[in-house]
Amino acid sequence: MTEFDAGMNPIDEVDEQAIADAEATAQEGCETVGVAIPLGRPGGHPGGHPGGHPGDRQRHGGARSQGFAPGGGPAAKAYEERTGIKAPRIIAWEITRSCNLSCIHCRAAAEFGHYPGELSLDEIKGVIDDIATISNPIIILTGGEPLMRPDIWEIIDYARAAGCAPVVGTNATLITDEIAAQLAEHKIPRISVSIDFATAEEHDSFRRQPGAFAASIEGIRRAKAAGVGVQINTTVTKLNADSLPAIHDLAEDLGVDAFHIFMLVPTGRGSEIEDLELPPEGYEKALTWAYERQKTSPLHFKPTDSPHYYRIIRQLAKAEGKQVTREEYGMDAMTRGCLGGITFCFISHIGDVQPCGYFDMQLGSVKEQKFSEIWTHSPVFNDLRDYSKLKGKCGACEYKGVCGGCRARALAATGDYMEEEPYCAYVPPAWTPEMAAEHAQVFEEKAVAWDQVLEERGTLLAGQ
Ligand code: SF4
Ligand code: SF4
Repeated sequence: MTEFDAGMNPIDEVDEQAIADAEATAQEGCETVGVAIPLGRPGGHPGGHPGGHPGDRQRHGGARSQGFAPGGGPAAKAYEERTGIKAPRIIAWEITRSCNLSCIHCRAAAEFGHYPGELSLDEIKGVIDDIATISNPIIILTGGEPLMRPDIWEIIDYARAAGCAPVVGTNATLITDEIAAQLAEHKIPRISVSIDFATAEEHDSFRRQPGAFAASIEGIRRAKAAGVGVQINTTVTKLNADSLPAIHDLAEDLGVDAFHIFMLVPTGRGSEIEDLELPPEGYEKALTWAYERQKTSPLHFKPTDSPHYYRIIRQLAKAEGKQVTREEYGMDAMTRGCLGGITFCFISHIGDVQPCGYFDMQLGSVKEQKFSEIWTHSPVFNDLRDYSKLKGKCGACEYKGVCGGCRARALAATGDYMEEEPYCAYVPPAWTPEMAAEHAQVFEEKAVAWDQVLEERGTLLAGQ
């Protein structure tokens, strides 16, 4: 049995009151404490130094409770009072799609080279000005590879001057001593770097780039030496699920600050590797391992794009006779699984606004409309904010307030973003076998119809 297997725990019965409390807290609290960072691919978690060693820590985990407070500020407060809508706390912004690598699982399917229609520096500044009217969010500058954009330092400085908190998601292969010094000089508190295996051979094969592993590790070391915090992101697939303990240990050996595991969402180039996606039971296993491992890990831990983690921690805590309180569980008690469209969103390289980088639907373009208007008025955003619209077993689930299922996976599977999360093993008590049988047919019909739509779209695109 591997350490990974050892992490499995049985599911306990539901503590209705604890969930109700958590749900209320999650909806209230994610702007005041840490939140999940559902980045597109290599993301960037906004800092916070985990510090310390697990030692005789009393509470569950510890490092994670010292996460970086997400953005918001007075602008967000004023916006919320005026509109009754939560302001964005974290925005992942793909400032370029150009990338020096072409990883198998890349959301952006990015390649080296210029992508037409990318936002200019002036356009980016205009959008930052508008964002700052409704919030002072953390802005994750991502890509592609954001360090390929020559004006990145000006973007960082401009965002900070506007009251936002920029961080950088990078593959780190371009981080020379000079770039590391610039990151520090421009007050980047943390970068995030994707490492998907603990060995160079496996990582380079996954990244389709010999030498990528060594270059990323070197970039991490340089950033740390310059005083910049580092978060390692790992996209979990069937290929590397059993390597999670080894990758965690590598992260610890490197002295990084955080370890975030991302569950593959097969869109972009990732759609080509749908077969590598863990089955629902695999998610349970990986997320249970995360729960157990972070009890003693010195790293700030955050499963991302795996909303059911927030159901799992409550089940496992209950089995241990605990409640998921802020005092005991830190930010895990205060946030919600999927925040896409709720306090988080994504802006693409050409200015399209989406709930997250994996949610393959454009809700508006900042080239044509103000970001603040899209955030406020998009019917899709407003649907995502209304948990009563969730369908299937997610709609019947007592954990929907703290989980909500991955809306991008529901969209990819059926074309209906409010459908049930297809990769969750949990069956809510209110979801009877009869309801399940009836809904399975509805789900299947949507999936078949959606496949046809996608096929037609593909044919149309091929004909252009
Ligand atoms: S829709 Fe899925 S991938 Fe997007 S933010 Fe929510 S959980 Fe993450
Ligand atoms: S059924 Fe849906 S809401 Fe409930 S735990 Fe699973 S994914 Fe989350």
